[in-house]
Amino acid sequence: MSFKGKIVFITGASGGIGAATALAFAAQGAKLLLAARRAGKLAEVASAALEHGAASVHSIDMDVRDYRAVQNAIDSLPPPWEAIDILVNNAGLSRGLEKLYVGKIEDWDEMIDTNVKGLLYVTRAVVPGMVVRGHGHVINLGSTAGSLPYPNGAVYCGSKAAEHSINDGLRQDLLGTPVRVTSIEPGMVETDFSLVRFRGDAERAAKVYKGVTPLRPEDVADAILWAAGRPPHVNIAQVVLTTIDQANSLLFNRQT
Ligand code: NAP
Repeated sequence: MSFKGKIVFITGASGGIGAATALAFAAQGAKLLLAARRAGKLAEVASAALEHGAASVHSIDMDVRDYRAVQNAIDSLPPPWEAIDILVNNAGLSRGLEKLYVGKIEDWDEMIDTNVKGLLYVTRAVVPGMVVRGHGHVINLGSTAGSLPYPNGAVYCGSKAAEHSINDGLRQDLLGTPVRVTSIEPGMVETDFSLVRFRGDAERAAKVYKGVTPLRPEDVADAILWAAGRPPHVNIAQVVLTTIDQANSLLFNRQT
């Protein structure tokens, strides 16, 4: 399937997996709608995408937690950008790593508001147009943490379990339309994810990846591109991928 001129909307495109996905689609000549909150980082990804071959790029400063802002951003897209072909619901984060019964309420709110409600808001704003146009693909970012929770991460893992259910529910609700729905569920990927989780503590973040070869964001982008590139009658429900040093969300081969 050719992505030339296709409109790909990626949330959380200012770094990590989202940015790598933007560059992967750019190299295929896609038109990119990129969204995130850090406008400066997004501008860097936008210019790299053009260098990689994107047909054009339109950036949106958007917090997925704000439903009105999300709906308004979609409603006010310039006409050449309205017919979104592929939505990559990637924006997400973890905050903190501690036992549930001493967890911080504000961390829980931020994770659930972003990973669950944000994903729902963007889906609600974009998918009706796909149904009307009779064309589209929603690709959600889940995690191995969604099927097997790890200690001290119950709320993040719960948010990704919710993503898995929402992904499967949406596919049922879209049955009878040509709109496809896919959940991409990686294990550990080296991005700013741990730096965000530990609120900028670089030393603690680096320890997460110590002694293992983690997935790179490009590996996940590759899986997204693959799922999106199947023939229109093929729906990839779920892709689970880990580094060879990881068996599931609990078990690592760590050289220390
Ligand atoms: P990352 O490098 O920290 O990137 C996260 C992206 O999400 C950033 O572009 C960030 O942009 C955006 N974002 C966060 N909150 C947002 C909000 N409220 N509104 C809009 N954008 C928001 O992390 P990553 O590893 O690439 O994570 C991407 C996705 O993969 C997440 O859903 C994550 O849960 C999932 N995942 C990651 C791993 C991993 O090990 N890294 C494993 C499995 C799944 P701004 O800050 O500029 O808004």
